[in-house]
Amino acid sequence: MSKIKVRFPDDSVKEFEEGITSLEIAKSISMRLANEVLAASVNGEVWDLTRPIKSDVSIILHKWDDSEAKHTFWHSSAHLMAEALESLYPGIKFGIGPSIENGFYYDVEPKEGIVITESDLPKIENKMADLAGQKEHYERKEVSKSDALKYFEKKGDEYKLELIEGLEDGKITFYTQGNFTDLCRGPHLPDTSPIKAIKLLSIAGAYWRGDEHNKQLTRIYGITFPKKKMLDDYLIMLEEAKKRDHRKLGKDLELFTFSSKVGQGLPLWLPKGTILRNRLEEFLKSVQVKYGYEQVITPHIGQKELYVTSGHYEKYGRDSFQPIHTPVEGEEFLLKPMNCPHHCEIYKSKPRSYKDLPLRYAEFGTVYRYEQSGELHGLTRVRGFTQDDAHIFCRPDQLKDEFIKVIDIILLIFEALDFKDFTTQISLRDPNDKSKYIGSDENWEKAEKAIIDATEEKGIDTIIEYGEAAFYGPKLDFMVKDALGRKWQLGTIQVDYNLPDRFELEYVGSDNQRHRPIMIHRAPFGSMERFVAVLIEHTAGEFPLWLSPRQVVVIPVSEKFNDYAESIFNNLKDKNILAELDNRNEKIGYKIRDWEIHKVPYMVIVGEKEESAGNISVRKHKKGDLGSLSLSDFIDNIMNEISGKISKTN
Ligand SMILES: [Zn+2]
Ligand SMILES: [Zn+2]
Repeated sequence: MSKIKVRFPDDSVKEFEEGITSLEIAKSISMRLANEVLAASVNGEVWDLTRPIKSDVSIILHKWDDSEAKHTFWHSSAHLMAEALESLYPGIKFGIGPSIENGFYYDVEPKEGIVITESDLPKIENKMADLAGQKEHYERKEVSKSDALKYFEKKGDEYKLELIEGLEDGKITFYTQGNFTDLCRGPHLPDTSPIKAIKLLSIAGAYWRGDEHNKQLTRIYGITFPKKKMLDDYLIMLEEAKKRDHRKLGKDLELFTFSSKVGQGLPLWLPKGTILRNRLEEFLKSVQVKYGYEQVITPHIGQKELYVTSGHYEKYGRDSFQPIHTPVEGEEFLLKPMNCPHHCEIYKSKPRSYKDLPLRYAEFGTVYRYEQSGELHGLTRVRGFTQDDAHIFCRPDQLKDEFIKVIDIILLIFEALDFKDFTTQISLRDPNDKSKYIGSDENWEKAEKAIIDATEEKGIDTIIEYGEAAFYGPKLDFMVKDALGRKWQLGTIQVDYNLPDRFELEYVGSDNQRHRPIMIHRAPFGSMERFVAVLIEHTAGEFPLWLSPRQVVVIPVSEKFNDYAESIFNNLKDKNILAELDNRNEKIGYKIRDWEIHKVPYMVIVGEKEESAGNISVRKHKKGDLGSLSLSDFIDNIMNEISGKISKTN
């Protein structure tokens, strides 16, 4: 037997017998590693641990914390669920069963007359646990297309047959564990035994291949873990997430609403939500002024021709909102899907010299994009939303500096809003296929280097993804982790060589020649809607005082003290503190509980004692009684709390 060379992530190289498996390699390092490893990347492709390695390779062994391990684990769990379903519901047919961000699902069709409901889930879970305990091996087998078709014809599963029809002969594999065989590319765990904790979460209808003209299948969602404690923690997190759901809190805290009359996916901001949103906008505007941005305003619609020039008509126009025609002239307008074309025209409004650059145009611009009604979700997936947009037009030699400045703004925002945990991703060209990108090689190299250098200079940890860039330029994305550890994509910075070309933007260089500026698109919040949703879920609706749309509520202990309460309330209002007066005819205990539920940061309570001493009693949300204070001390304290948070970021 000949030897092969295996390279590890630390660049060390070891020799093994040809045909060794990743699992055996793990064992040769330590038994402990072999027990924890769940999948392996072999030359960058995720493989079964039990697949023989026949040539020199580089290898990464994945434990649970790696997403490659989780996906392998959850995909294997989907097969385990399918096996359980087949034994409980003979004749059941299977669509697709992938791993997803958290867990897995399988689309299935039980025999006619049989319906699987939520109440059946525990039974299926138990069967899965039984099978997992039997340590069934997942076995990979290459099959010819005709054999694959024969197998599923005999089984009578038209969904798998349709999938096989679309596959190339010679590249088809089956996986079998226990009595269940599936058409599958893999990879899988060596066996079912690591699947120790199982929870089937929900059932939904799903059209075959996502097409509403097709049959509706039953989609069963589940999640599994190698330890019971992990599942328990996950279920607690899910409960907490439900309480923080921005759709629920948005309603409870009277921030926004939707109306079927106005239309689906079109949020209506209520007065309290508008205060919150305005404060965020004012905050960003004041930061942007310091960074040399100029605010502009452009209309909500534009001539179709504008978006044909920009290319957005190709991308958003045809299948989305139909053009609006003016009655007499018959002009064609579209709802604005992007602000950039409008800003390009502002750039073109007069000749530009190299000395004018960079130009930074900022706009809280509302855009409209069609989303299918089934895809709409609270404020995170809407049909009309406002981007905290800006476009920077600069020279190539200014690109890196401009990038650094945008990163600074994004970091400021994260700090002000307490997003401590974030990751970034740089999306670059596919180095093996440069043909699909527009712009010269030289420009791309410069831009990619500028982004990489900028992130290095700022000391930000980034993942570089090759082949993920848009065709018109590389980009940097920011993902934050919220208080529950969930990841949200927020800010983005994108270099663009395309629009300056399409709009023929120019500046006169120091050489007296015409040059194309580079355009940077950036939106630190992403959109106001999405950002507010994330902020609600991150803070559970307990906003920092400076953002809170209701900072103080003044509550008299009884009607007798209404006048005193009102004088306090007026004093607070005079200081621009967002105060409310609660002189409802209710018991004081009830009012305190009620405002606690509404997450009001401070309650000011006044009665006999306070009125005669000329002071107030203060309660802080979640902290309780702070004792009595003079009104002027209280005002000083909260003004400090508000300005402290803001000044830190200014
Ligand atoms: Zn599979
Ligand atoms: Zn843009």
